Amino acid sequence: MHCVIVGGGLAGLASAVWLTEAGHRVTLLERRGSLGGRTIAMPVAAVDDVPDNGQHVFASGYEHLMRYLDSVGTRQYVEFPGQMTIRMPGGATRRSAFAGIAGARAALGDLPGVTGLDRLRTMRAQTTLIRHVLRQPDWLDDITADEWFRRIGMPQSARDALWDGIVIGLTGDKPEISSAKVPADLLVTGIRQARKTRTPISIGYPTVDLDTLFIDGAQKVFADNGVEVRHRAVAASIDVADGAVAGVTLTDGEHIAADAVICAVPVWNIRGLLDKVPGHEQIYAAAEQLTPVPIVSVNLYLDRPIGMTDWGEILLGGEGVLEQVWDRQRMHGRNPQRAHLYSTTVSAAYDLTTKSNAAITDIQMQMLRRYFPEATDAQVIHSHVVRMPKSTFAQRPGTAGIRPDQRTAVRGLALAGDWTRTDWTTTMEGACQSAARAVEVILQSSKGDRG
Ligand SMILES: Cc1cc2nc3c(=O)[nH]c(=O)nc-3n(C[C@H](O)[C@H](O)[C@H](O)COP(=O)(O)OP(=O)(O)OC[C@H]3O[C@@H](n4cnc5c(N)ncnc54)[C@H](O)[C@@H]3O)c2cc1C
Repeated sequence: MHCVIVGGGLAGLASAVWLTEAGHRVTLLERRGSLGGRTIAMPVAAVDDVPDNGQHVFASGYEHLMRYLDSVGTRQYVEFPGQMTIRMPGGATRRSAFAGIAGARAALGDLPGVTGLDRLRTMRAQTTLIRHVLRQPDWLDDITADEWFRRIGMPQSARDALWDGIVIGLTGDKPEISSAKVPADLLVTGIRQARKTRTPISIGYPTVDLDTLFIDGAQKVFADNGVEVRHRAVAASIDVADGAVAGVTLTDGEHIAADAVICAVPVWNIRGLLDKVPGHEQIYAAAEQLTPVPIVSVNLYLDRPIGMTDWGEILLGGEGVLEQVWDRQRMHGRNPQRAHLYSTTVSAAYDLTTKSNAAITDIQMQMLRRYFPEATDAQVIHSHVVRMPKSTFAQRPGTAGIRPDQRTAVRGLALAGDWTRTDWTTTMEGACQSAARAVEVILQSSKGDRG
């Protein structure tokens, strides 16, 4: 088959690689001048460096993403150290882990800043929470995560110490916005994966930049197998004839004929592409409800080390946003001779995105000085601010089940992308799982055609 993939983010890349592995001819169309979508490295001339558009961390259950890394030969560039560090203003730290002694202490309500009777209340609320996660009450998608925590009596101190951060980390959005069902479903997925692989849940990170991790290996696969990659090729519509896919028309009017198409554009670019596909109204209506969430990342090149004790640290007390800082020296083995690179991530950064680069840098430096005594006199050599207003999407109450399936009403046409239906939310794993399912739909449809 000649398969056309629309969109060169992780979902499109994985689809292209796996259809190539299955022996099909592939053309990959990407709107921009480079591949990678939301996972890219960005050259910064001022410091002659190529940092990422934002830190991407891995969960131990990311099996489809790992399969993609195996396909492109870069799995060795991901490490799972088994723990992160939680830091309080002033500099006090504590190891965080989901297993072992740290996990057991957390289960008993022994969390940073949780004292006295609140420990007992936390333990009780966590027991109810796990019960709700495993046997979900039917009202879970009617309420926000914030309301859920209040309903089960989770003390504010435990929310500040752990649970609000978990919701933002898992869903990408604030507990006051996200449906309670989204973190609950993700916890189920995490528990299921941990049981399947018999390894405790942990968080990992790439030891190289995102282009080296995701793109270079894919480009080699494409070059070796004759995959045609077309940059600045913007799809305008997916074409359909007699109930089967016929190809893709670009915005400049060119028609590319295809036996199969995987449409792997992000949720905010789907409108208009599927106008000829029966059932497109429902897909567009679902897309409208998955609203974008901003992330602001800053690559801070400093004149000295700030005293991080771990590769990644979660800063508690961030007033409704999840603030994290990453030590690129430890993670990438960087030589800090010219500058020490620390990357910060602010998720659900609704307020920060509208500020100037100088203001954002200032806010991030004030934050580092609040948490790291050694940062008090640190000077910024260069600051690289990356604002991504459309980083991930929010799933509000009442949206359970709206994400569309990879299979469409049109033979030979499948959808992929982190927003289509998967066991995950808006993640790299969601993108790769959607690709695996989309490829399966295409391979089955080709068998149907033959048989
Ligand atoms: C700053 C940041 C931090 C993140 N952190 C994490 C994390 O720690 N862990 C995690 O798992 N996930 C994280 N994510 C989410 C993760 O990056 C995404 O879920 C995933 O990369 C989405 O991949 P995708 O292929 O579905 O979409 P995209 O990467 O958006 O790719 C879609 C591609 O389609 C192209 N396109 C759009 N329209 C057209 C058209 N008409 N024709 C041709 N091409 C088109 C786009 O240009 C784009 O390249 C983060 C995201 C951001 C932005």
